[in-house]
Amino acid sequence: MNVKVRCPACGGTQQVGAAQAPSKIACRRCGRTIPLALTVSVREDREVDACPVCEGRDLYVRKDLNRNLGLTAVVIVGLVSAGFLWSGRDLAAYVVLGAFALVDFVIYQLLKDVTVCYRCQSEFRGSYRRTAPPFDLHTAERLELEYSRRLAGSGAGAPFLGG
Ligand SMILES: [Zn+2]
Ligand SMILES: [Zn+2]
Repeated sequence: MNVKVRCPACGGTQQVGAAQAPSKIACRRCGRTIPLALTVSVREDREVDACPVCEGRDLYVRKDLNRNLGLTAVVIVGLVSAGFLWSGRDLAAYVVLGAFALVDFVIYQLLKDVTVCYRCQSEFRGSYRRTAPPFDLHTAERLELEYSRRLAGSGAGAPFLGG
C-alpha cells in the first residue's frame, strides 16, 4: 500500500511505498526526521492495524474524494441549470440536474475507500482489507487534542494551533 505521511511538525505530506519503506524519512518541507514504525500487516498490504507515524490504532475509512473537483462540478452544474431556468427552458435545467445526480451517484460508488489516521491524518491507499469504521467527529476531536498535547510535550511544537 501507499502511505501519505503527514509531518507532525509542519503538516507537509509525502508518499511512501509501505513495502520498501525505510525505518525513518526526512520531511521534505522542514527536514524533520519522521520515524516509521510499519507493522507487518501494513508492509504486506493486508490491513492498517496501526499508523506507522504516530503508532495510533484509531483509524477511519472515507471515500477517496477530491473535494475541490467535486465542488467545481457542483458549481458548474448549478450555473448551467440556472442558465436554462433563467432562459425559460425548465425541462433542460431539470435534465441537467438529474443527469448530474446520476453521474454523481455512479462516481461515488466507484470511488475507493481510503483509511485515515485520526491523530496524525496520515492516509493509506492500497488493495488491503478495510477494517476501520467510518469517521466519527467525537473520536476525532478527542484524539486530535490528545495528539497535539503529546507533540507539545515532546518539544515538537503544536503545529495545528491557531485554527
Ligand atoms: Zn515537516
Ligand atoms: Zn497516525
